[in-house]
Amino acid sequence: MDCLFCKIIAGEIPSKKVYEDEQVYAFYDIDPQAPVHILIIPKAHIPSAAQITAENSAVVAHIFEVAAKLAAEAGLKDGFRVVTNCGDSAGQSVKHLHFHLLGGRDFTWPPG
Ligand code: 5GP
Ligand code: ZN
Repeated sequence: MDCLFCKIIAGEIPSKKVYEDEQVYAFYDIDPQAPVHILIIPKAHIPSAAQITAENSAVVAHIFEVAAKLAAEAGLKDGFRVVTNCGDSAGQSVKHLHFHLLGGRDFTWPPG
């Protein structure tokens, strides 16, 4: 499959790994938007949040467990943001479900 993040999971494209288990892979974003910017992705290819179903949603709960663990390890005790962009209007550029874990600075609300 011609998917950038599937290739990163397979090790065909290098990445700076933060965490990995049977279900998920986490790595540093190549273009960080905050002092801490980690991408957490399911190993299974799910195109976006729009394709989360009763059959595949367990990995999403696991991703949030991993996000909490990685945020604590990164020392983000003042807070952090977890974001998934879904579809073109939201600015999703890679069509493999991914959650941005952002921290180390203050964030505005609503997002742009
Ligand atoms: P999106 O824009 O789809 O929400 O997020 C995709 C993210 O993937 C962007 O933040 C972008 O910087 C990151 N990204 C794109 N290509 C690569 C890559 O080859 N390696 C890494 N580590 N991050 C990437
Ligand atoms: Zn993929």
